[in-house]
Amino acid sequence: MRVVILGAGFGGLELSTRLSEEFGDEADVVLVDQADGFVFGFSKLEVMFGRAVPDQVHHPYADVVKPGVRFVQSTVRSIDPVNKRVETDAGAFEADVLVVALGADLHPDATPGLVEGGNEFYTVAGAFALRDVLESFEGGRVIVGVTSLPFKCPPAPSETALLMDDFLTARGRREQSTISLVMPLPVPIPPSPAASEALLVAFAERGIDWLPGRLVSGLDPARKVALLSDGSELPYDLFLGIPVHRVPAVVEASGMTVDGWIPVDPLTLETSFPGVYAVGDVSSVGTPKAGVFAEGQAAVVADRIIALMRGDDGSAQYGGNGMCWLEFGHDQVAKVDVTFLPGQKPFGNLEGPAYEFVADKVEFGSSRIRRWFGRTWPAGVS
Ligand SMILES: Cc1cc2nc3c(=O)[nH]c(=O)nc-3n(C[C@H](O)[C@H](O)[C@H](O)COP(=O)(O)OP(=O)(O)OC[C@H]3O[C@@H](n4cnc5c(N)ncnc54)[C@H](O)[C@@H]3O)c2cc1C
Repeated sequence: MRVVILGAGFGGLELSTRLSEEFGDEADVVLVDQADGFVFGFSKLEVMFGRAVPDQVHHPYADVVKPGVRFVQSTVRSIDPVNKRVETDAGAFEADVLVVALGADLHPDATPGLVEGGNEFYTVAGAFALRDVLESFEGGRVIVGVTSLPFKCPPAPSETALLMDDFLTARGRREQSTISLVMPLPVPIPPSPAASEALLVAFAERGIDWLPGRLVSGLDPARKVALLSDGSELPYDLFLGIPVHRVPAVVEASGMTVDGWIPVDPLTLETSFPGVYAVGDVSSVGTPKAGVFAEGQAAVVADRIIALMRGDDGSAQYGGNGMCWLEFGHDQVAKVDVTFLPGQKPFGNLEGPAYEFVADKVEFGSSRIRRWFGRTWPAGVS
């Protein structure tokens, strides 16, 4: 059975690893990605705040040596979900099972003034460039602002505001600074009231202005003000934006999307095209756009493919569960666990924030890199 996986992010790496672990050389998996390596979303914050250098968090796909998996570094140019055929710059691939795991593309240029007058920290390039910008920032009015819905990793803007507080404090620049967090949501993490409450307490304690229920619709770089969706303006010296998210253009052109994202069966992750699955940020499955959910969905698709290949009934179903580590600053991390089931209110719990979870978060990343890339990470952690 020929399995073609488009995208080697959280979803694609987990799925290809599972199939290789199960079938070894007997697997026939092609994994396509245009990038030369993988970077965890949370590593972007590490680099931006000067806690790591880019080389430490970049995992080259050249290191992926998995029996039965061929990694092809190339751009996907077209997807034909009816015939399960894709065109890439490296040629065409035909599949028996096709899995779209191409994530969400980011469009800083879709927000007027953002490219000219602000910064964004959601792309790898944007976050890495901010390392130097922050290092030379003398303090002033900082805005962390969301420009549209949906956006990946809903806790990331809150984490960024808290880490910015740490960063400015450590450099003696906090007193001459303000930090504002502009979010379209009513609370920081709506599916987790306990995590939202803990974040609101931390914002209040650290003097972070929480501005819920509105978006940043543009920047006026000449006047250095952010234009908010409620008609108000907010002056800034440093703007850190969360850019507009969309499916990659090749997905849009494939005809698989409805209202911007690929709809899937929430239990099987299969699209309306038989034998074609979508996992992770590219779909509208109903969970937040986050790596842990992409990974959980990939595991279910893996189980279903494995059952299909073994001639079993393939009854694995997606349970909508994900656990995120939440940076609280002050060397503390919290553990947020949430489950999303169709037709039900999300439920979950919060542990921490606590110093002990810092090591657990490191182990979360290390364990993925061990399985996906076959090497230890970070250096010195076995
Ligand atoms: C600042 C920040 C912090 C985050 N922190 C966390 C966290 O702590 N925990 C968590 O779970 N999630 C976190 N996330 C979210 C997480 O990074 C994403 O939700 C996750 O990577 C989605 O996985 P995916 O497999 O759907 O897509 P991705 O991991 O985005 O992978 C998609 C892949 O498709 C490739 N691709 C796209 N278009 C093409 C094309 N045309 N041709 C070939 N290849 C293509 C891309 O190169 C990419 O490698 C964070 C995100 C950010 C920005």
